[in-house]
Amino acid sequence: MIQPATLAVTAKLAWVELDGVPQLVEHPRIRFDRVSGQVLAISRQDPAGADQPAGELLHDLGHALVLPGMINAHSHAFQRAIRGATHTLGPHSPSSFWTWRTAMYEVANTLDPAGVYEHTRACFAEMLGRGITCVGEFHYLHHAPDGAPYADPNELSHQVIRAAADVGLRLCLLEVYYSRSGPQAAGPLPEQRRFCDGSTDAYLARVDALRTLASPMLSIGVAPHSVRAVRADELARLAAHAHAHGLPIHAHVSEQLLENQQCQAEHGRTPLQVFADAGCLAGPHAFTAVHAIHVSSDDLELLRDQQVCACPTTEADLGDGIIPATSWHEHRATLSLGSDSNAVIDLIQEARLLEMHERLRLQARLCLRDDQGRVAPLLLAAASTGGARALGRPELGRLAVGSPFDAVAIDLDHPTLRGVDDHLALDALLLAGTAEPISQVWVAGRRRR
Ligand SMILES: [Zn+2]
Repeated sequence: MIQPATLAVTAKLAWVELDGVPQLVEHPRIRFDRVSGQVLAISRQDPAGADQPAGELLHDLGHALVLPGMINAHSHAFQRAIRGATHTLGPHSPSSFWTWRTAMYEVANTLDPAGVYEHTRACFAEMLGRGITCVGEFHYLHHAPDGAPYADPNELSHQVIRAAADVGLRLCLLEVYYSRSGPQAAGPLPEQRRFCDGSTDAYLARVDALRTLASPMLSIGVAPHSVRAVRADELARLAAHAHAHGLPIHAHVSEQLLENQQCQAEHGRTPLQVFADAGCLAGPHAFTAVHAIHVSSDDLELLRDQQVCACPTTEADLGDGIIPATSWHEHRATLSLGSDSNAVIDLIQEARLLEMHERLRLQARLCLRDDQGRVAPLLLAAASTGGARALGRPELGRLAVGSPFDAVAIDLDHPTLRGVDDHLALDALLLAGTAEPISQVWVAGRRRR
């Protein structure tokens, strides 16, 4: 029997784009190509079924809210290995970001290629189950623990790519460049050797080899780790290469005050000014500043039409500080979200905390709101279109004609949503909820959960 070429998904509600406007639609009908996964049409369902082409498969999700698949713009998958492991104070136990980092490095240096694959696969599988359909993996384990390249210098990158492919998750592999332990250092600490390529030439050769693998499921980005770990002249080289090949640039920016103080001492400027002066911000949407917590008013002007990636559960866990998300939004930086250390994998929680931390900081309510005064759509955008923009994949994170059917179904009968008016479900999910009610996950038109 010949299978129909298209599938139509229906549900009680969906957040879709009609005429270019994201909106909540009752009784949506989303039709997509079953081979490519591309959305062909979105309409309101004809209750009489008159718009149902003969032979087309129909999949009714029932009392559910369909949302775009979520985009996780910043992750270090292997760090999930220390979930729960750094929360007791002792002589060698973490009590600051820097001592937490020591504990994290210990795990980083135990992993062989099989270990990288296993931890990454487990992490990515959890992401997919939580409604994440594309991840930006900020990948910095490159070489053997002593810094020696593997026979294939991209061995560990290939393990990450294989993990994403086996899970069915889209991946933007943000290849990290790392060359030193800090401003006064000529090179890395012993425990940082495996992060380092030794030269920008060696690093860019790896990036170019990985670029040949690009597909709808895999893209590549350039990721200078931070101003702490990369010299300004190296930043300029990386930026030029990224712009020449249209690759997104991501970097850790102003996560800790010590980083800012060291940067001022070395450069007499803020980290963001160093990135800007190196050319990283040339072109709209070229650069994503991860964290961007301890920033000046001049910094806020620099990122107009660029991206900020907030990771509120990790930033809280590590005592980093509160990202001034409202200020970033007012200065027209696109907000995105990351699970970062993967101690928590739940972009609904990340989105909720983005707003809630602002309420605590500003002692006000409804801080991150759109021009209609709504908070939930803006938080959903951070978890979807904002992340897609950060990863250089603007076709993702939206349910729109021409985009792939990457989607999640929210079970409106889940105990956390039961009794909530359907039209408040999006607000309840994003401002009082978690990823728990996600009942189905689709990537490229294939159901993955
Ligand atoms: Zn990070």
